[in-house]
Amino acid sequence: MASQTTKHVFAFEEGDGKDKRLLGGKGANLCEMTQMGLNVPPGFVISTAACLEYLESPERALPAGLMDAVHAQMRAVEKKTGKGFGDPDKPLLVSVRSGSAMSMPGMMDTILNLGLNEETLQGEIRATGDARFGYDAYRRFIQLFGKVALGVPDAAFDHELEAVKEAAHAKQDVDLSAHDLKEVSERFLRVVEAHTGHPFPSDPYRQLEIAIKAVFNSWGGKRAVDYRRQFHITPEMANGTAVNVVTMVFGNRGDDSATGVAFTRNPGSGENKLYGEYLVNAQGEDVVAGIRTPKPISRLRVEMPEMAAQLDILREKLETHYREVQDFEFTIERGQLFCLQTRNGKMNAVAMVRTSVEMEREDLINKEEALLRIQPDLLEQMLFPRLDPTVKADSVAQGLPASPGAASGFAVFDADRAEQFGHELGQKVILVREETKPEDIHGFFAAEGILTSRGGKTSHAAVVARGMGKPCVAGAEGISVDVNRREARVGLTSFKEGDVITIDGTSGKVYLGAIPTVEPDFTPELDVLLGWSDEMARLKVMANADTPEDARRARKYGAVGIGLARTERMFNDVERLPVVIEMIVAETPEARQAALDKLLPLQRKDFRDLFEVMAPNPVTIRLLDPPIHEFLPDEHVLERELTDLRVLARSARGMTVLAGAMGLLHSPDNVRHDIDSLRRMVDPAVVEEAIAKKEAMLRKVRALYETNPMLGHRGVRLGITFPEIYQMQIRAILEAAAECTKAGIEVHPQIKVPQVCTAQELRLVKSFVDTIHDEVTETYGQPVNFKFGTMIEVVRACMRAESLAEEAEFFSFGTNDLTQATFSFSREDAENKFLPLYNQSGILQDNPFEVLDVKGVGKLMQLAVDWGRSVKPNLHVGICGEHGGHPASIAFCHQAGLDYVSCSGPRVPVARLAAAHAALKAAR
Ligand code: ADP
Ligand code: MG
Ligand code: MG
Repeated sequence: MASQTTKHVFAFEEGDGKDKRLLGGKGANLCEMTQMGLNVPPGFVISTAACLEYLESPERALPAGLMDAVHAQMRAVEKKTGKGFGDPDKPLLVSVRSGSAMSMPGMMDTILNLGLNEETLQGEIRATGDARFGYDAYRRFIQLFGKVALGVPDAAFDHELEAVKEAAHAKQDVDLSAHDLKEVSERFLRVVEAHTGHPFPSDPYRQLEIAIKAVFNSWGGKRAVDYRRQFHITPEMANGTAVNVVTMVFGNRGDDSATGVAFTRNPGSGENKLYGEYLVNAQGEDVVAGIRTPKPISRLRVEMPEMAAQLDILREKLETHYREVQDFEFTIERGQLFCLQTRNGKMNAVAMVRTSVEMEREDLINKEEALLRIQPDLLEQMLFPRLDPTVKADSVAQGLPASPGAASGFAVFDADRAEQFGHELGQKVILVREETKPEDIHGFFAAEGILTSRGGKTSHAAVVARGMGKPCVAGAEGISVDVNRREARVGLTSFKEGDVITIDGTSGKVYLGAIPTVEPDFTPELDVLLGWSDEMARLKVMANADTPEDARRARKYGAVGIGLARTERMFNDVERLPVVIEMIVAETPEARQAALDKLLPLQRKDFRDLFEVMAPNPVTIRLLDPPIHEFLPDEHVLERELTDLRVLARSARGMTVLAGAMGLLHSPDNVRHDIDSLRRMVDPAVVEEAIAKKEAMLRKVRALYETNPMLGHRGVRLGITFPEIYQMQIRAILEAAAECTKAGIEVHPQIKVPQVCTAQELRLVKSFVDTIHDEVTETYGQPVNFKFGTMIEVVRACMRAESLAEEAEFFSFGTNDLTQATFSFSREDAENKFLPLYNQSGILQDNPFEVLDVKGVGKLMQLAVDWGRSVKPNLHVGICGEHGGHPASIAFCHQAGLDYVSCSGPRVPVARLAAAHAALKAAR
């Protein structure tokens, strides 16, 4: 059998400090620290393999020979310490501690002071000359062992402790005398016997065996299983727990003793200075338990200068060895410093970035390591305000964390009110909607954040909010919005227009009332770090930006161009919408041209502004994409308005009759005034005119009606059936570029055609471009530098990449639509209806609209890249879907040979670091 030959027990001097899977994180580091000469109390580790063997054996038996090996190790520890396990004269006490490869807080409590019984206790009291200390250790041991290893509830012990305290008139535990504590331990022993039916085990080796089994069992306990599920800890990451048996050292042996925890650097700011807390005359747990308030580590320099100096040396040794910020535990026993645990410190984003940069400067790590130790997503923390972590508050609803950052403000329930309160009155508002539509855009501009009760992370609200860098909580289903009454119900409470609410788009939580936020900090160190990223990365990072503000911010975050500027956002502007509608409802080409002539200068200015902000970087403009009926009013609203107008028309006619009839009753002179004013009140002709207009609009809306608008009359299809629209946009782009060039601004416009499925479409649009370019060259007296390319977002486009590459200078993958097309999932419906179940039940691992589906969508992309480049080797290829800001997708884009990713402005720093990670990992 394997168990006879496999080594399961390792002295700290012999265990492999790199093998965390076998020895657990705590055990591996205890071995490592011992071997590098740090003062670790003697001890040994029982491996995770022994744990698994134990848990898998039908009768839950320890592996054969395990306890023999433990005995042998204990004898070695006795030798090193000069004490004896169970020896009443010089008792050796140990702690029994669990520890798996991944830190799992609260999996099992550590048992301290194991080895105590009536005899060894007396020996300990004789050796220390301190009866109070002895009985205190004893009663703590009985309770911990009783609870952790034997399953006796804490309450049973607490009850007895309270009884003794009351009898002794003691307020706190520290007020109890040795005699009281003796009484407590006697009562505790009786509690254990009453609960288990057996006397408390007094043989130290039996205590040890029970404790080892209890630690092993805790791996399969509910707490631990739930934790692993919650945090996706797979058996590959951690399998079984190790047991660490460590000689006890005592921080509670008087005022020359202490215990504490520390970080080698400040985990909140990254400052290169020892950070931590300690307690004088206390044992391990006391620091964390919060019974006494610990002191800041800086105090130690005053209280125990000699020890503080030793702690500095320990810190130095730990960092030089691990080359990573360490979070460690120490105990001082009568002037001697021991290190009891170390692990890599968990830090916030600011501290991670600062320590990366500073440790590189200190030559502790190189640039590559400095970059790789930071998860790209973590940087998001540094770009958005977040809730003040010191403020405790209960959320009232939970939605999806759709766009990071936190904000509070007055709740408003429609975009117009948002604009009124937000822009005109200068209030902070949160726009609350069931879901948002393109026509709500002005409300987004006016709001601090957006909250919706429906829709997923790729809903309109989420995408637009992310683009603007505003917080958004989407799909908070616990909230029901009543727009008419201007209020929302949440469970048993509600909030009305004007009530203050707070949303946290990073966690998806919604709060009533205002919760303070802390501002983002784009530190100088972050600039340095991202500079290194750019050196290492092959992928360039561009931004999706539609407005000069978006572009400016993206540029600040380091975007080297715009990969996607959506022109529909410009059409939706409040002042332009009427002109856009005029263009759509135009009955003749001349009428349409007249409207387009009004739009041309506006668009030209839009593009010019974008070019100027981004110069000399490329700006990629996508020609109009959405179905045009999206700009028109809703059919049902129109119908309702028409009904109302017709009623009004009848009344108006009635009034005219009434006015005439009044003249029959009275002498005309007396009532002339009244008659006139009646006539003036509603002029039937005006009403009829309004009806005719609405009817025309309704006819247009009905004519444009589509069953599946997303697969209907949009993108290049629209550009071909209404050529004047694309021609206007192309002219606006080229003229804006010509103006900039004249003004000495270097510009690189790129014209991008959406929804293309065949080269014929591209050829046709290209012919518009060529004609207009000739005209612009003529007018401005010089040609314009530009590139012409296509979105790849239709499956057929991937399949026909070779022929598209003949017409296009660049490909830009629109992975949002391409994902819809590949799965035949409509995004909104999928996220609202079946995707959550698909994810839960494991049919799909991830939401493909968030995490690029490398196996399906990625395969299409790879084919398109390879086929496209086979025709045009220098074909420029990028991605501009939401996925462009997602680290795993960025890694794929690197492998697939893309030239750039384009993502929303605030994701640019994340993408820059992710691009560096992709390059560094691929090179390994
Ligand atoms: P956790 O994983 O919850 O931190 P630990 O095993 O580290 O649990 O132990 C809990 C506390 O007991 C810590 O403060 C630790 O320093 C202390 N401790 C553990 N073993 C010993 C020991 N042999 N001597 C003194 N204190 C110890
Ligand atoms: Mg610990
Ligand atoms: Mg698209």
